Amino acid sequence: MKFKSINFTCKNCGAPLRFSPISNSLSCEFCDTKESIKESKKEIKEYSFKEALHLLETHHEKTIEKETTCTKCAATFQMNPYSISVNCPYCGTPAIVEFVKEIHPKSLLPFHVSQKQAQEFFKKWIGSLWFAPSKLKKFLTGEYKLKGYYLPHWTYDSETHTQYHGERGTVYYVNVERTVVVNGRQERKTVREARIRWTPVSGAVENFFDDITVGASKTVSHTILDNLEPWHTDVLVPFNKKYILGFDSEEYTIGLDNGFEFAKLKMDGVIRQKIKHQIGGDQQRINRMNTQYHNTTYKNVLFPIWTAEFKWNNKTYNYAINGQTGKVTGERPYSWLKIITLILIVATVVGGAVYVDAHPDILNLP
Ligand SMILES: [Zn+2]
Ligand SMILES: [Zn+2]
Repeated sequence: MKFKSINFTCKNCGAPLRFSPISNSLSCEFCDTKESIKESKKEIKEYSFKEALHLLETHHEKTIEKETTCTKCAATFQMNPYSISVNCPYCGTPAIVEFVKEIHPKSLLPFHVSQKQAQEFFKKWIGSLWFAPSKLKKFLTGEYKLKGYYLPHWTYDSETHTQYHGERGTVYYVNVERTVVVNGRQERKTVREARIRWTPVSGAVENFFDDITVGASKTVSHTILDNLEPWHTDVLVPFNKKYILGFDSEEYTIGLDNGFEFAKLKMDGVIRQKIKHQIGGDQQRINRMNTQYHNTTYKNVLFPIWTAEFKWNNKTYNYAINGQTGKVTGERPYSWLKIITLILIVATVVGGAVYVDAHPDILNLP
C-alpha cells in the first residue's frame, strides 16, 4: 500500500531538517540553522487498560506492506509494515508516514544522547580496545555508525491485591551427639546444630505500581530492553513528529495484552519481596499466591535507543545504548586469538622473571 511521507525543511536553504539531541531542536545539516520545537502543553495521560482491550477485540489488526516515495529524490521504496519513520535508502532524507495501529504513541522521550556521545559511552563500556574483534572496533572508531531508533514501549500502572499462603521459618538450636574426627581419631561429641521450624502463615499484600515499562518491539530483544532501564518517564513529552525526524521509529509489534504479561512478571518480583517481608522470621516460603490487578492503566510511548550489531564467529552480538541516560548493555565479545597471544606474552615475561629470581648472579654485571 502506498503511504504519503512527510518531512520538514530548512527555512533558510530548503534542506531536510533532523532532530538534534544536542540542541533539542530541529537542525539543518547544510547551513546549521536551528528550529526549536514548540513544546505542547498537553498533559501526559494514562488510559484504561480494560477499555483498550475491549476496543482491540473488535478491531482486527492486519499487516500492511508500506511503500512510500521520497519527498526529495522521488525514489519509491519499501518500509517495514510497523515502521513510522526512516531515512530514504537513496538520499538519506527523513520520511515519516502515518500510523496504522489502533493505539498510537501519545508521548515520547526525545533523544538526549547524541550519536557521538553514544559512541563514547559505548567505547568506555567495551573497555580495552585491545581485546575487541576488529569488526567491533569499527563501531568504536566511528567507521560503522550506531543506529538510532525510537522503539515503542508500554507503561502500566496497577493497584494489586495479593493473597498468599506460605510458611515462616524460625531457626532454633539442638544439641546432638555426633562422631567427629579429632587428630585423626574418631570421637563422640555433643554439637550444636541449627534447625528450622516452619509455621504456616497466610495473608494479603497491596502494591501500587507506577509506569512498569515493557518493550513493545521485536527489533531489540527483551533482555536488552530490560537492561536499558530505568527510563525516566516523568519527563515524557507529548508526541510530535519533529522529534523522530532522522531516526527510525516503529509502532508496537507486541500487543497491549502480551505486554501486560511481561509487566506481571516484573510486578511479581516486587510483590514476592513484600510478602516475604510480611511473613518475617528467619526464612520464608511462598507456596501459593493469587494477584488481582485493579485500575490498570497504560501508555504507549517511544523511547530513544542507539544500537549496534555485528557478526563474529557465526554469532550476532547486539548492543544498545539508552538514548536518554547513556546506559550501555550487551554482550562483550573477546577475540580469543588476542587473548591467547596475551597469555603467551605474560607467560614468557613471568618465566623470565622466575629465571632471574633463581639465578640472581646473572644480574651481578660489572
Ligand atoms: Zn539550511
Ligand atoms: Zn531520497
